[in-house]
Amino acid sequence: MTNIAFIGLGNMGGPMTANLIKAGHKVTAFDLVAASRDQAKKDGAAIGESAVATVQGADVVITMLPAGKHVLSVWNEVVPAMKKGALIIDCSTIDVESSKQAHALAAKHGMGSVDAPVSGGTGGAKAATLTFMCGGDEKSFAAAKPVLEAMGKKIVHCGGAGAGQGVKICNNMVLAVSMAAVGEAFCLAEKLGLSHQAVFDVVSTSSGQCWALTTYCPVPGPVPTSPANNDYKPGFATALMVKDLTLAQDAAKSVGAATPFGKQAQELYKAFEDAGNGGVDFSGIIKHVRGLAGKS
Ligand code: NAD
Repeated sequence: MTNIAFIGLGNMGGPMTANLIKAGHKVTAFDLVAASRDQAKKDGAAIGESAVATVQGADVVITMLPAGKHVLSVWNEVVPAMKKGALIIDCSTIDVESSKQAHALAAKHGMGSVDAPVSGGTGGAKAATLTFMCGGDEKSFAAAKPVLEAMGKKIVHCGGAGAGQGVKICNNMVLAVSMAAVGEAFCLAEKLGLSHQAVFDVVSTSSGQCWALTTYCPVPGPVPTSPANNDYKPGFATALMVKDLTLAQDAAKSVGAATPFGKQAQELYKAFEDAGNGGVDFSGIIKHVRGLAGKS
């Protein structure tokens, strides 16, 4: 049993906290929103009166917050108040630069730190099947792993400070581009009078095969569990994909990497979001692509 402080009890952090408690850990939790604190209390957490009060005496502190500015603000508050030699883990998806700053702050105060963004969404958070992509030194990763195992099924050490965030945005950039490409192929096939099923049967067993097609097919029918069969309810919302693609573009600019497809994907999904589709699953991008017909 580890004494854990958890800050940020939203759609992801709430169920992750519940899973830590189910695994036998003692959790003290905090969020700015009263309803989230109440739910954590029902799940068996002790509730802290503030972020600083929550981390007192904890062996491990976990944050699950919206963006880099929230993480830096909370870490600046809590790191100086942590027990000497404790570990702090950030599971939020944030920019690589803020993540590195957070690690540096922890090191300055003698704390171990890990960036550990996740994939698997709210379903994975509830089922404790998340994948954690971790950045930090060996010792901190080794200490974080058994705690993360209570919330996920795959824990990968990607490298030093910020490496987890870097790998996460690379993965999501591939996903966004491949989903747009699969959507485009179906749109062309429709115009050519081909059936969705024929395209699926051939491409899913040929060199165009990819996760966006075989697991998350953006047209209804071939993969019954994909959001396309459920009016594109998320799943993974377009607004979150735009966030990750924007982080990827920021990272690319900061290191001078060329990401022409990533840039175009960011613009494409952003236009879809701006048209009122932020809450639609990202595979709905096929509808946006279909709507572009005749416009270029
Ligand atoms: P959310 O908005 O539901 O939860 C964030 C929580 O942080 C909120 O409850 C908010 O009140 C709390 N918070 C903000 N500032 C705070 C502060 N100063 N002190 C205490 N609490 C504070 O977001 P979410 O969906 O749980 O996502 C959290 C992170 O996980 C994000 O970085 C997101 O990009 C990432 N993520 C989300 C998903 C998903 O499917 N939702 C998937 C992968 C990664």
